[in-house]
Amino acid sequence: MRPRLVDRFGRPVDGLRISVTEACNFACIYCHREGAWPGGRSANERQMRADELGRITRLAVELGITKFKLTGGEPTLRPDIVDVVAEMGAIGGVEDLSMTTNGSRLAELAYELAEAGLMRVNVSLDTLDPGKFELITGRGKLDAVLAGIEAALDAGLRPVKLNMVLLRGLNDGEVWDMVDFAREKGVILQVIELVRAPGVPASFFEAYHIGLEELEAELARKAVKVVRRQLQDRPKFFLPEGVEVELVRPVHNSAFCAKCRRLRLTSDGRLKLCLMRPDTLDLLGPLRSGASDEELKAIFKRAVELREPYYRASEDEQS
Ligand code: SAM
Ligand code: SF4
Repeated sequence: MRPRLVDRFGRPVDGLRISVTEACNFACIYCHREGAWPGGRSANERQMRADELGRITRLAVELGITKFKLTGGEPTLRPDIVDVVAEMGAIGGVEDLSMTTNGSRLAELAYELAEAGLMRVNVSLDTLDPGKFELITGRGKLDAVLAGIEAALDAGLRPVKLNMVLLRGLNDGEVWDMVDFAREKGVILQVIELVRAPGVPASFFEAYHIGLEELEAELARKAVKVVRRQLQDRPKFFLPEGVEVELVRPVHNSAFCAKCRRLRLTSDGRLKLCLMRPDTLDLLGPLRSGASDEELKAIFKRAVELREPYYRASEDEQS
């Protein structure tokens, strides 16, 4: 039987979300900078190399972690991103190897990434309006991202999911246009509730945050089938004509935390126990100082032991 990591709250851990760089070519107004280690910008030499990521992946698989997502920053900015995917994709037991990307470099890279072992991709796309796209992303170009989505489909990456962060007054009127776009392209739409990133002013969050409850009710009325994903209790709606919409509702949602199955790894090799918390355990330091496989696995196990849900069931209060 495959070894299983389970935390003190009975939550199995079978996913690792790895930031492979802090660098980004966009400056999205809401970005929670998940790739960054909370102590500040890390030096380049602390960035995990492709071979180190290969070893970490092998150890994680041996512990029962089988689902890997590459993120950032913008993962496709790493000059060796294809090598990173190839190192990780070569490890037996990796059941899911995916990437979340802003899509800006996918038109160039999708084929090579698929060839190297990338299975699927999430592309961030908050709007189909070029002006709003530039406003939200700071310096992104919509056409490049649309070309990236086409390239991902042509390269056989499946499924392609669109990540749309819902922003009050900016794109909350565009959900059904995005559903039509997803239907036309044969991709899945994932609508994400805005998270208040540490360090983001309350005024920004309050201005743009919009709950997904109304949308959830509307989707439920229109859906021919609704399922809940094992990961973070995400509802998935199957709408007529074959289009799927998933909701990611992390804010004040204890069910989301109760079903969180992931650890995170910052680009400088620190295991992060929760997106919303600063706690990390250094993995890369010991790895570079010659730690054995068993010593490194013990750090993974310690990280799992220390995990705590951010929102608890008691009135969905923050723990
Ligand atoms: N650069 C890549 C991208 O944009 O897809 C990967 C990193 S980005 C931080 C990962 C995902 O987090 C994106 O889909 C982005 O839209 C989402 N995200 C960033 N900040 C967020 C926030 N404050 N609330 C909710 N989602 C957020
Ligand atoms: Fe953040 Fe991704 Fe936007 Fe870059 S593209 S600013 S990492 S959300």
